[in-house]
Amino acid sequence: MRLIDAPSPNHDARPEGTAIDTLVLHYTGMRSGAEAIARLRDPQARVSSHYVVEEDGAVFRLVPEQSRAWHAGLSHWRGQTGLNGRSIGIEIVNPGHEWGYRPFPALQMAAVCDLCLAILGRHPIAPRDVVAHSDIAPDRKADPGEFFDWEGLAANGVGLFPAAGAPRASGDALGLLGAIGYRTDLPLPVLITAFQRHRQPARVDGVADAQTLERLGAVAFAVAG
Ligand SMILES: [Zn+2]
Repeated sequence: MRLIDAPSPNHDARPEGTAIDTLVLHYTGMRSGAEAIARLRDPQARVSSHYVVEEDGAVFRLVPEQSRAWHAGLSHWRGQTGLNGRSIGIEIVNPGHEWGYRPFPALQMAAVCDLCLAILGRHPIAPRDVVAHSDIAPDRKADPGEFFDWEGLAANGVGLFPAAGAPRASGDALGLLGAIGYRTDLPLPVLITAFQRHRQPARVDGVADAQTLERLGAVAFAVAG
């Protein structure tokens, strides 16, 4: 892994006694990686992440893991809010839905995988708590989006992506979403869209049909196990 130090001033101390137990993946959503890195290091912008992964696989380290980077904003997961305090954030260079969303190159995904595995080796982060920004802010965010290869990452030991036909928990859509970790006080189509972006990327339409319910049940079963 090519690791390049590019320190950002945009961080502060984590709340006293907070464990690092969540890993949040983003896309940069800007026209270029250089533009995104410049913004994440700009004291005026007051945003940052611990790492940025370029499309060629270069990894930039902006904030030390023991500090709180400012990447997630208003966020909610498994009953916790303000996920910056307990998470590590990785920004993955991609123009995003606003500037021309495109597939993540294989070199970039390999670097993301290596980086995640290293982080998981340093902190007690459960597979279910490797999340998308869209999982923890479903009403505001769509990143890293449906082109991101969550299935490939899970096959390499990062996160959780049950295979087709895996055992399933039963319940209604909202109950299963809540069991997985989503907040449940948002419109169901918003939550289903976030779930699909991560776990059922072939169809992101916000509709809780039989296939989506099957996926929901499989993920809910896996996180309970
Ligand atoms: Zn994000």
